[in-house]
Amino acid sequence: MRIPGYWRNTQFFYRLAGWKCVHCGAFHHYKPVVCKRCGSREFAQAELPSSGKLITYTIVRSPPRGFELFAPYAIGLIELEDGTRILSQLTDFKENELKDEIKVEAVFRRVRINGDQGIIEYGYKFRPALRRS
Ligand SMILES: [Zn+2]
Repeated sequence: MRIPGYWRNTQFFYRLAGWKCVHCGAFHHYKPVVCKRCGSREFAQAELPSSGKLITYTIVRSPPRGFELFAPYAIGLIELEDGTRILSQLTDFKENELKDEIKVEAVFRRVRINGDQGIIEYGYKFRPALRRS
């Protein structure tokens, strides 16, 4: 691994956190008014595991506004180690590396450039796990 990449990851490592429905366990990135899955209004803060496996993915070639610089890019459905399923952009892969069920891990990356002022937003993406054990 190159040194600048290493330091960027350790300095800004971003934990996957959000809200879990107390009743059905559905995960929400932002605290919702009602659970999309079961209609409950009770949520608990939750931290998610930072690794899991890739269930499926798609390559986006016509991106929404703000994501043009990243196209084409891949969006994956990921099942984390605790069974939570989330959608996330994928990064740091060669196209032949993306297969269903491969192990993936969260990394902190630039996720989009916002508007004409070029404000850069950071967040997590997933990449194929470096340790495949
Ligand atoms: Zn629920």
